[in-house]
Amino acid sequence: MTDTRPTTPVVDVLCVGAGFSGLYAAYKASEQGWTVAGFETAPDVGGTWFWNTYPGARCDVESVYYSYSFSEELQQEWTWSERFAPQAEILAYINHVADRFGLRRHFRFNTRVTAANWLADERLWELTLDSGDTCRGRYLLAGSGGLSTPKDFDVPGLENFTGLKVSTSRWTISLDELSGKRVAVIGTGSSGVQCIPLIAGVAAHLTVFQRTPNYVFPARNAPLPAETVAEIKSKYPAIREECRQSPGGIPDRPVADRAFDVSDEERRERYERAYERSGFLGVGAEFADLLTDPEANETAAEFVRHKIRQIVRDPRTAALLEPRFHPLGAKRSCFGTDYYETFNRPNVSLVSLREEPITTMTSGSIVTEGGSHDVDALVLAIGFDAFTGPLYALNVTTPSGRLQDAWRDGVRTYLGIMTAGFPNFFMIGGPQSPALASNVVVTIEQAVDWITDLIAHAEEEGGDTVEATPEAQDDWVAITEATVDQTLYATTDSWYRGSNVTGKPATFLGYVGGVGKYRRMCAEIAKRGYPGVRIGGQAVAPRIGRIDEEIA
Ligand code: FAD
Ligand code: NAP
Repeated sequence: MTDTRPTTPVVDVLCVGAGFSGLYAAYKASEQGWTVAGFETAPDVGGTWFWNTYPGARCDVESVYYSYSFSEELQQEWTWSERFAPQAEILAYINHVADRFGLRRHFRFNTRVTAANWLADERLWELTLDSGDTCRGRYLLAGSGGLSTPKDFDVPGLENFTGLKVSTSRWTISLDELSGKRVAVIGTGSSGVQCIPLIAGVAAHLTVFQRTPNYVFPARNAPLPAETVAEIKSKYPAIREECRQSPGGIPDRPVADRAFDVSDEERRERYERAYERSGFLGVGAEFADLLTDPEANETAAEFVRHKIRQIVRDPRTAALLEPRFHPLGAKRSCFGTDYYETFNRPNVSLVSLREEPITTMTSGSIVTEGGSHDVDALVLAIGFDAFTGPLYALNVTTPSGRLQDAWRDGVRTYLGIMTAGFPNFFMIGGPQSPALASNVVVTIEQAVDWITDLIAHAEEEGGDTVEATPEAQDDWVAITEATVDQTLYATTDSWYRGSNVTGKPATFLGYVGGVGKYRRMCAEIAKRGYPGVRIGGQAVAPRIGRIDEEIA
């Protein structure tokens, strides 16, 4: 094969983003001896945990699991202080990882990638940076994040508001700046649920604008006792392996029985215990059929509504907070501290946007169909243009077209990692991967390991292009759809389906068959010589078929 690539130096791996994904990709690539050039819009590492500094921000997957597993030394030397570490501690951890493994040197910070063009003749990616510079490399790894592009506020009038405006996903103020003010929070997803109680603690008055009430569980965050940490550290390799093979990337608590297999009383007692336990293996995971059978789900949903009625004193407010528009767990449940209790405070009121939608804003008020609400400060907790937002902003383009054109009718990927027609382009924690419904760090490590193994394999084979076949992509899309269609996720509008962003085609953006099963499928594909992947134009087989039915 004639090598038509230019003689000017190019890097082996181009990497976008310096969050959990980009940092691990840079680590693995340099471990392989490959040269790396990484780019990050932010002035420093951290990704999600750099940007989302709003009051109350913390993980809701236990920190001892929501962390890298690739280095035994790292997991022994780092000690988490709380069950769910606050944002600042997670950011400190990511900084520690960057320093310890010398990863900062691979990245150019304050640098946004504005375009990625595939130079087909040279078989290279060329990135254009916001400085106007370009940079070329053989493989492009997008660690640009699933939840890194804030959603636009899709109600007219925001531009009229002249008071303090801040969004949770680009938090730029101190909590003190809200002190004594009349504050509005719009949005009651995970971000809103975490910040609302803290804002209520300082505001003169807080008005919460809620469109869809969600299921909010008490996080039951607490300091991590030294003996718990010591015990986990003593068994870390085994615990990590359990996470890797589990459905959600956390140690599993398998249940086989269904909600109506037990008496009403036993069911209620089990929900009570699960409510005390909290976390992702709490109420929503107490019976095997809660995410597949609407009637079973309703028993858990009603349990939560009952809790809300017990906690919230004003019956009208309680009724508005009761989640009634989707099954429990079908959009991401929230974990908060004193969330429902906050609505008992005299300085907090709730506006249901289902009853009185926002019509506009003035310089100092939010106008709904029910009246005008005067506010000094506005907090937007309205979420993200998930997965495709950051990928489309990269303007990934080949001579045949752009990624956003290829996905005009909906996302189509192979394993959530590659997409047909875009050679040598890989997504870490991409759409149709398990990232949507898992401990994302587990998904990230698995994806990066699989991608680097595939590139190493391609190098050994002497192929300089690696590309998914359209047939294998069809197979993967069919698998993700068949998997989600068995669940109640399929029935619910949320960022999981792209329905939170106006005009976004509805595709379910994750694989929900579990990280363990996904890992086993990916491993099997590698073992079979990567069917569904053309390496240097050749594939051992174009399809993977229903590999999900072959693998337990
Ligand atoms: P990110 O952390 O989003 O990093 C992507 C980086 O890429 C960003 O820094 C961004 O600036 C950069 N970037 C994007 N586009 C460009 C470009 N064009 N040019 C240059 N740089 C670019 N997951 C869990 O599993 N458990 C949790 O408890 C949890 N809590 C969360 C809490 C919040 C508030 C949010 C928003 C998400 C949470 N997540 C959680 C999901 C979280 O996003 C992932 O766990 C993880 O941090 C993703 O890492 P990443 O590196 O893939 O992406
Ligand atoms: P989100 O879950 O998408 O919630 C956005 C909220 O804003 C919803 O209540 C939504 O209402 C509302 N909203 C959106 N547009 C609106 C509009 N135009 N008018 C009025 N209300 C509007 O976003 P998020 O809270 O930022 O969370 C996103 C994801 O990030 C989470 O699901 C989770 O994966 C992750 N996260 C995790 C944590 C954690 O606890 N560790 C914290 C924050 C975020 P509708 O529901 O009606 O659309």
